[in-house]
Amino acid sequence: MESSGCTMTISAPGAGLRLPARLRRIEQAVGMSFHDRVDVFLYEVDQRCANSTLPIESDGAAGCALDGQAIAADAGSLSHELVHALRLQNGIRGNPFFEEGIARAVGNGYPSNGWTVSRMDFSPSSLSNAAVEQWSEYSVDTSRFGAHFTSWALEDEEVAAQLLRFLASDYTGDVEASFRDAFGADFQSVEANWERSSEDAYFASGRCDGLAVHDLAEGPLRVEGKVSCEDPYTEGNEGVLYLAGRACFRLPAAAQIRISAEAEAGLLSLLPLDCSDAGRSVFAGETQETAISGCTWSAAMTTQGEDIDAFSYQIELLSM
Ligand SMILES: [Zn+2]
Repeated sequence: MESSGCTMTISAPGAGLRLPARLRRIEQAVGMSFHDRVDVFLYEVDQRCANSTLPIESDGAAGCALDGQAIAADAGSLSHELVHALRLQNGIRGNPFFEEGIARAVGNGYPSNGWTVSRMDFSPSSLSNAAVEQWSEYSVDTSRFGAHFTSWALEDEEVAAQLLRFLASDYTGDVEASFRDAFGADFQSVEANWERSSEDAYFASGRCDGLAVHDLAEGPLRVEGKVSCEDPYTEGNEGVLYLAGRACFRLPAAAQIRISAEAEAGLLSLLPLDCSDAGRSVFAGETQETAISGCTWSAAMTTQGEDIDAFSYQIELLSM
């Protein structure tokens, strides 16, 4: 990975992709470092992935990891494929249950959207069967099942450490022995724990990472800043969704709010993080009044543009 001013953090043939906060977060979540560059073939999934030895992603986003140094992705699958590339760069190809599990739990929807996995989305197999499934047997069902397991494991500090220890090993030689080594228990007892203590559904979003949650009942939320190369959360490239200024707020009960976004460009997008309301969006320069559910929300300036061009923004959210 190289860095020079605004452009190059990870390379895309023809141009630089700027993703500093995203790459650090992926490394931290997976517990590994990128050792080499990753060429990103953005929006070339159809052309590049046809001969991939790993399956092409489904579930809305498309992409594949060609190897540890090259991925093809669209904006929605970029983080997911970066997780695969990171694992491959560290010499681990693994099995789909665990590899898709960690790629989904860490990468799906990050950072622009939220992502959810629910028990209703897959027909569960047993952990001992799913864990040894090979890439040739890959199915989306296994990958969702793995994502549920991984999301559950990552929520508990102790289990998360066990999972990451397991994932750091080249576990495919004897999956069961590696698993027992890392978890200090066999498939059956970890599975029983998973069934007993897991949620039906897990929701993940990186949009509030590192942010304080403002209580909108206590007063308006005003955030101003600049979409610029100095801001680690400003990311993007030609055709890629930029995520820039971010704020996080909580509304104790459903209420009418006023949203305004003053900026030369972009869109202010609101995403509910722990209730099932729909997202809202307001174009730069506009004000909107709308009723939203009481829960935690993320507000972020996003822009889909030609290149990173610095501009200032002012966000104001007011409970009425
Ligand atoms: Zn994948």
